[in-house]
Amino acid sequence: MEFYNIERLLGCVADGVKVKDILDKAEQCVGLTVEEAAALLLLPGEWNEGIFASARKVKQALYGPRVVLFAPLYISNLCTNSCLYCSFRQENKQLTRRKLTQDEIAEQTRLLIAMGHKRVLLETGEDLTQTPIEYVLESIHTIYSIRHIGNGIRRVNVNIAATSTDNYQKLRAAGIGTYQLFQETYHQPTYEFMHPSGPKADFNYHLTAMERAINGGVDDFGLGALLGLYDYRFEVLSLIAHAQYLKKTHGIGPHTVSVPRLRPARNTRYPENHLVDDNSFARIVAILRLALPYTGIILSTREAPLMREFLLDVGVSQMSAASATSPGGYGKSDENTQFEGIDHRSLDEVVGSIISKGYVPSFCTGCYRKQRTGARFMDLVEHGHIKELCQSNALLTLAEYLEQYGSSDTRTAASLQWDGWIGQIPEGTLRESTRARLQRVFSGERDVYV
Ligand code: SAM
Ligand code: SF4
Repeated sequence: MEFYNIERLLGCVADGVKVKDILDKAEQCVGLTVEEAAALLLLPGEWNEGIFASARKVKQALYGPRVVLFAPLYISNLCTNSCLYCSFRQENKQLTRRKLTQDEIAEQTRLLIAMGHKRVLLETGEDLTQTPIEYVLESIHTIYSIRHIGNGIRRVNVNIAATSTDNYQKLRAAGIGTYQLFQETYHQPTYEFMHPSGPKADFNYHLTAMERAINGGVDDFGLGALLGLYDYRFEVLSLIAHAQYLKKTHGIGPHTVSVPRLRPARNTRYPENHLVDDNSFARIVAILRLALPYTGIILSTREAPLMREFLLDVGVSQMSAASATSPGGYGKSDENTQFEGIDHRSLDEVVGSIISKGYVPSFCTGCYRKQRTGARFMDLVEHGHIKELCQSNALLTLAEYLEQYGSSDTRTAASLQWDGWIGQIPEGTLRESTRARLQRVFSGERDVYV
């Protein structure tokens, strides 16, 4: 795979770059070259406000105010890898190992449905003998099969280890939404240091996973880098280069990028000289929004509530909420987490805080179920048509959530916003049909979407 010489880019700080020209260009939602993104990354802190303002405009123009919510579902912490930063690494003898049975997965799914979730991100450690692809496929099937109080999980995204084209074909056939895999670090020497043994130690196999996934028919995939392992500027530029490379060579860019920031994890030891401070982190999110305008940006409960709220303004479009990061972690407190979470709010509290910021929490799974994925989805975003559909589906799924699960405070907060939210859908057929559909939801109909 041919990447830019990122080290070279970082070595030649772009003196006198026309920052305003770069931001003006980005605001046209045409993305940034790696060189332009490098120029923004290398600017001093006083530029942050300008970069944030441009990112806000791009997010608003392409996605509108909706924020999609999901929850992770860990099915096993068995792992034969040795990632130095992760508590699931095989050398960690302080962790109680657990692989959920299908009954336990069904129970965890019921707990998520009972909170109001509709989207799940399946996660697992890598153990080819004890948790082979067949176990993952069966688990996906179990999650989709559960009905609880008339509801079910409508989209299962998957974050599992790099695998073969054959296995990606099987995941696709099982009806996954997005396949996510984080490169962790794009810096090969650091990667090899951080992943000393196990199947994940193979840098090239990991780096080329998305090409196998695409060849296996997975047209909806998410990239990410674990921020804090190496120089974040190198990681961000490499992530952008990776996304652009896939788009150029395979015709599809990533559906999402994730920006996990390293968190303390039980019984782990690794160098901490590249940890990313809050200001740099916010700038990273904003620059990703400008460089990859059509790509969703995902934030997890690795970030604190205030930071999560702030980043909504800067370009984040998806968030996990009320997450447990251990197998069996919903419904009980558990020390066997993959890392320490930092946002312990309930789903209803997260929904309420998003509403209070003027955004629309969304549980939409419409595009995936209407086959608006891959190039088709990108085409809709690039032509500016997805925003209205997103707003309509966000409102329909939020109404459904509030009717069944919303606290009275959250319902009251939402009730003040409905007219404004509906008014954000352009006048015409879609606005009127959304009003009519909302009435159907308020009358008790479920799973209404466009
Ligand atoms: N085991 C697979 C893998 O590593 O690709 C599946 C994903 S793993 C369950 C989810 C992700 O958690 C990893 O890709 C890694 O980036 C992240 N992670 C691991 N330890 C972390 C830590 N201490 N802080 C934040 N994120 C962490
Ligand atoms: Fe295993 Fe993934 Fe954790 Fe690495 S990051 S130890 S592969 S669960």
